[in-house]
Amino acid sequence: MEERGISQAVIGRLPRYYRYLGDLKNEGVERISSQELSRIMNVTASQIRQDFNNFGGFGQQGYGYNTSYLYEEIGKILGLDQQHDMILIGAGNLGQALVNYMNLKNRGFSFKGAFDISPSLYGKKIANVPIYPMDQMTGFIVENHIDIAVLTVPKAAAIEITQILTETPIKAIWNFAHVDLKVPDRIQVESVHLQDSLMKLSYNIRRHENES
Ligand code: NAD
Repeated sequence: MEERGISQAVIGRLPRYYRYLGDLKNEGVERISSQELSRIMNVTASQIRQDFNNFGGFGQQGYGYNTSYLYEEIGKILGLDQQHDMILIGAGNLGQALVNYMNLKNRGFSFKGAFDISPSLYGKKIANVPIYPMDQMTGFIVENHIDIAVLTVPKAAAIEITQILTETPIKAIWNFAHVDLKVPDRIQVESVHLQDSLMKLSYNIRRHENES
């Protein structure tokens, strides 16, 4: 499958398609037209066709898309057909909430261990995931073939820990600290900032009020 040159905007829309198709599949819907998908998802049918054309189409003229096939194919593009083992770094409020969010497991993501600087947490578990001291992190990543490090530590600690992570075989960092991380090209970083989303919401409230 040719994937070079696909915009991040298209990639960014795939998880939403995946979610809707998963729901349709669970509801027993076997086929769906781009018009029908467009109506449910509130995006234009031409946007859907354009997005899917990046991956060679998937559809059959006049016949619609096979829901299960499309779901599986988008899952493969997103790499969700592979198991991704993860570690948590920073077992505080946010970190514990993430590990407890067990749904992640269903999509091939699984926390294998958690690490923290606070000795009071050692030996404890979050949803069966043990918490270890930081000096065991590098060895754990290597021995357990960990792909993804989830960073839920304060900003300064995140920079320091990222430096250590760049010397391990980790493939990606899911970053929740409010800092832009510098990593070599072989490491993928996805940062999540809930406040950015809230600020966008705040902007839209203001814009709506100004318009009305
Ligand atoms: P918290 O204080 O409850 O947890 C932080 C944990 O990190 C603690 O357990 C602490 O012991 C540990 N820690 C501190 N320094 C460390 C180090 N050098 N090595 C290993 N562990 C270390 O805080 P929280 O509410 O869970 O928030 C964690 C981070 O996530 C903060 O930086 C916060 O700003 C950020 N945050 C981001 C978002 C977002 O949307 N991205 C949302 C909430 C919080």
